[in-house]
Amino acid sequence: MKLCELEKASLGIFPTPLQKMENLTKEIGCGDLYIKRDDLTDVGLSGNKIRKLEYLVAQAKAEGCNTLLTFGGPQTNHGRLTAAAAVRCGMKCILILTGERPDYMSGNLLLDKLMGADLYFTTGDPEEAAKKVIAQYEAKGDKVYVIPTGGSNELGAVGYIQMVPELMAQCKEMGIAPKYLVCGSGSQGTFGGLWLGAKYYGAPFEVLGVTINPATPRTPDSCAEYINRMSEMYGLGVTAKGEEIRLFKGNREENYSGVAYNTPDPVTRAHIALLARTEAIFLDPCYTGKVFHGFVDMVKSGIIPKGESAIFLHTGGIPALWTKEHLDSFQEELWGEGSSHTI
Ligand SMILES: *Cc1c(COP(=O)(O)O)cnc(C)c1O
Repeated sequence: MKLCELEKASLGIFPTPLQKMENLTKEIGCGDLYIKRDDLTDVGLSGNKIRKLEYLVAQAKAEGCNTLLTFGGPQTNHGRLTAAAAVRCGMKCILILTGERPDYMSGNLLLDKLMGADLYFTTGDPEEAAKKVIAQYEAKGDKVYVIPTGGSNELGAVGYIQMVPELMAQCKEMGIAPKYLVCGSGSQGTFGGLWLGAKYYGAPFEVLGVTINPATPRTPDSCAEYINRMSEMYGLGVTAKGEEIRLFKGNREENYSGVAYNTPDPVTRAHIALLARTEAIFLDPCYTGKVFHGFVDMVKSGIIPKGESAIFLHTGGIPALWTKEHLDSFQEELWGEGSSHTI
């Protein structure tokens, strides 16, 4: 199967903007710093999952499915965007969410409900839960298309392979040649797709990943395998070796991925505040705040060499700012005595 033969549903608005971060560049010094705004893909307050879903939903439709099912934590952005894609395509959406049902409906859960998604919480095996739910829907005549966590299989990642020519054209148009593109690495469809796309299309930038979840960091070797599987599947002629895959998690002093997945931490919050204060662009506390911490540290510590310009990929996730746990921690920091005035 060739890349250009793959069907694609139209869900987002592309190209997403590529912007220079003037104030941040001044503040932390270095070469010019840019931001690629995949938080502005439009539908359902999007983010990076929409590029993947364009390919996955096209396949669901081609297979005659009327329902999308996917997995995630209760605050999954991927789940929210699967619900949004289902709305746009006139399909039903089922989300299998791992963990207890929170008492308070905040962040993405509110948006999932507003879009009419069916939510199923489980503390057991999500695959088993999905099997049961699918049987119920199929008994009613629905046909369910199953999307893996994060939309990160060989098909979903094509969305990010294909972001590379979009970004190369933007750089050319702006007359700039950044040497690095920094993105988050969770389920790795984004990083894997970009890495493969950069090699296949001969991009002038190297793709660097920042690990998001300290508990389950994907290894460079498993990432290289994923890339090689895709390269073979689409006949791209690229071979990745584990030692070429550059994933960063920081060190003891600068630990980018924080304490745990989706657990509030003050360093991530400080970096969210930094970009808000310098560029009026908002990051989220679960993913992009951590990746931006990595980006800033890579600039300051010379991993991105002095004078070289670099692009930060904003992958969305903003609704997490308004989840109960994160709001409570911001509350302590920003809403204490003397933090605002009444006259
Ligand atoms: C899912 C997600 C990521 C990670 O992308 P992967 O392709 O899973 O590695 C990064 N940022 C946000 C906001 C996300 O929702």
